[in-house]
Amino acid sequence: TQTPSIILETRGLTKDFKGFTAIKDVNVQVQTGHIHALIGPNGAGKTTFFNLLTKFLTPTAGRIFYDGNDITRHRPAEIAQHGLIRSFQISAVFPHLSARENVRIALQRKLGVSYHFWRPIRVLDQLNEEAQHLLEQVGLGEFADTKAVELAYGRKRALEIATTIALKPRLMLLDEPTQGMSAEDVSTVTDLIRRVVEGRTVVMVEHNLNVVSTLADRITVLSRGEVLAEGDYDTVSTNPAVMEAYMGT
Ligand code: ADP
Repeated sequence: TQTPSIILETRGLTKDFKGFTAIKDVNVQVQTGHIHALIGPNGAGKTTFFNLLTKFLTPTAGRIFYDGNDITRHRPAEIAQHGLIRSFQISAVFPHLSARENVRIALQRKLGVSYHFWRPIRVLDQLNEEAQHLLEQVGLGEFADTKAVELAYGRKRALEIATTIALKPRLMLLDEPTQGMSAEDVSTVTDLIRRVVEGRTVVMVEHNLNVVSTLADRITVLSRGEVLAEGDYDTVSTNPAVMEAYMGT
């Protein structure tokens, strides 16, 4: 059997905040093509770990490898160029531009074309067409001309997914994709993620265990900054230590 390829790996990742260790010696391997979920009770260190991966925070110790390269000291913009893209930063969407314009700007960013400058009409037409196609993929085809700010919450998330896909990620980092959503929106966004991430790799932090059980190929459970368990949903959800950690919150 072939060894699965590992796209992202942390070794001994540690983050101290003034003497408090939020992440302690965490080793995680993310396999190419997997949806890998990070779960754990409140205060487990999920956000801190995620912020280390996205380079928002700098680790106290340990290393992060992406595609076999040590990216521990790389800046977010550098790793984004190599396809490691964080999604669900609402601020990444321009509220007063239309859905189509938002996606087009992401496509232009990928091409390295500044949207301030005049472009030949032909190029703009092509980009608009590609943007429309992406919007249709995420179910926003008929909202192409709607301003982002006017989209309902679940649709805003769909737009963010479209702008992320426009950047052609090799690894998507999703921060609580269903946070604050109604049950209906949760199921729409879950379906959407399942459809659009086909063939891509995802690392996601997600509180909703139904979403995790539906989407995740592999799950790392954090508790008090350490890896408590790892495996598929059935394995971790029946692990007594995991059940105990969740009961305590
Ligand atoms: P989770 O996302 O799993 O709820 P966090 O990563 O947000 O957990 O937090 C883990 C622990 O680290 C918590 O006890 C939190 O209080 C602490 N922590 C997080 N960020 C900071 C910070 N900037 N300064 C001090 N402590 C922090």
